[in-house]
Amino acid sequence: MREPISEELRTKCGESVIDLAISNVKAGGLPFAAIIVDQNGETIGKGVNQVARLLDCTAHAEIQAIREASRNEESSTLKGATLFASGEPCGLCYMAMRMAEIRKVIIVSDRYEAEKHGFDYLWTYKYFNVSLFREFDIRTLDNDRKLVPFQLAKELI
Ligand SMILES: [Zn+2]
Repeated sequence: MREPISEELRTKCGESVIDLAISNVKAGGLPFAAIIVDQNGETIGKGVNQVARLLDCTAHAEIQAIREASRNEESSTLKGATLFASGEPCGLCYMAMRMAEIRKVIIVSDRYEAEKHGFDYLWTYKYFNVSLFREFDIRTLDNDRKLVPFQLAKELI
């Protein structure tokens, strides 16, 4: 199978999604960001957690990125796209990605790392059947700076 997301692009998107999460913390938001790339590796949407700013409990980074990508692509589905997340998507966001037909997810920090650093959303997974997760190709991307958004949030919030 063709692999449009090269190692180089994965690393670049990993860096960008961490930078985006850091900027969101500096702007008073939570340390979560997401970037969506299409099948050709082009960025089609970005998002950060804007729950507090928009007073919208669904304005998670992944959902904001899906909204932007859908507007850019003029499509309510994003088949073949890959979503990069600075922190593992919560249950709501996995469901939104399923609805958007995004199957590839690349995570920088996982749910347990987020929990350990003060962002516990483990409860969001318990309402889902485990079969939901089997629909995704979930990979983790190692990065030396992966915990920086959480650490910065701890200092600033
Ligand atoms: Zn979420």
